[in-house]
Amino acid sequence: MIVLMKHDTAPGDIEKVMEKVRSLGFLPHAISGSQSMTIGITGNKSRIDTDLFMSMSGVEDVIQVSKPYKLVSRDIKREDTVIQVGEDEVGGKDLTVIAGPCSVESRSQILEIALMLSEMGVKFLRGGAYKPRTSPYSFQGLKEEGLEFLKEAAVAAGMHVITEVKDTETLPLVMRYADILQVGSRNMYNFSLLERIGEQRKPVLIKRAFSATIEELLMAGEYVAAKGNYQIIFCERGIRSFDPLTRNSLDLTAVPLVKKLSHFPIIVDPSHGTGAWDLVIPMSQAAVVAGADGLMIEVHPDPSVALSDGFQSLRPDKFKELLERLRVISPIVGKTVRAPQSSTLVSNN
Ligand code: PEP
Ligand code: MN
Repeated sequence: MIVLMKHDTAPGDIEKVMEKVRSLGFLPHAISGSQSMTIGITGNKSRIDTDLFMSMSGVEDVIQVSKPYKLVSRDIKREDTVIQVGEDEVGGKDLTVIAGPCSVESRSQILEIALMLSEMGVKFLRGGAYKPRTSPYSFQGLKEEGLEFLKEAAVAAGMHVITEVKDTETLPLVMRYADILQVGSRNMYNFSLLERIGEQRKPVLIKRAFSATIEELLMAGEYVAAKGNYQIIFCERGIRSFDPLTRNSLDLTAVPLVKKLSHFPIIVDPSHGTGAWDLVIPMSQAAVVAGADGLMIEVHPDPSVALSDGFQSLRPDKFKELLERLRVISPIVGKTVRAPQSSTLVSNN
């Protein structure tokens, strides 16, 4: 159920509604926009009587939600949610560009690429330290050392860190290094991990499982929001199909659909979505035109020696070309792409 508060409700009235929800043994979620304030109620096993709230001061309306997700839904908030990451945003006017190698491989590899990317205007550095690989014999990541290298490189380049959390066990450790937590495709259905992330107060990017429907993706977000973390970014990264020429089929329909159904931002990962580096530029362009809030792109200083996903990683010169194209295309859909930096900030501490 959603309690819609009147536009200029006094904070005291909002608190009274929240208290009432708690006294019934449920959890209140205050979701505010610049034009609206709604209180989502979770934790109830059956329908709540709307009259319990309808007569309370400041209440405009009480709406029963029939969808299996509520807090991530547009029903609770009409306007887009913008996620704040330091001084930067995801879901705002700037197209969010997340780039970096599939895996952190060494201190010099991640530092080299971070400095290059930062100079090109990129603010979000990706790199896996805990890699959920299909084969147990494939490179599993540098683990904590990888997180250290990643953070060090990001600080030196003035960037934010996004990296995957593989399990609940390593969550506290990853929390210390990441600015955005990444839930991988294989973990989208890991409900205990989602709930633990929901208890944190850090942005989370949830990648669509390659077998998930859009509703299932939204419900993964709902697991996080239901625990009180409202900093969610969805990511379309391709679903499994029948064509052997691509690793996955990038489902760009997810972009307008998620934007229609949810107030949270959605970004697109055309690297995993296609599995072929030469398809990354065209599909990135298509994603932006479809209305994506951002892109996640695998970039490696030398993809031919990459320890994972080299075949789908762009070389820095190709990535630069992509950014130049995006700077031309993005204004058509009301987005901007950050300009290259004249010099890169390098600090040793
Ligand atoms: C990744 O981003 O490196 C990754 C493993 O992606 P996915 O979970 O989408 O396969
Ligand atoms: Mn990868």
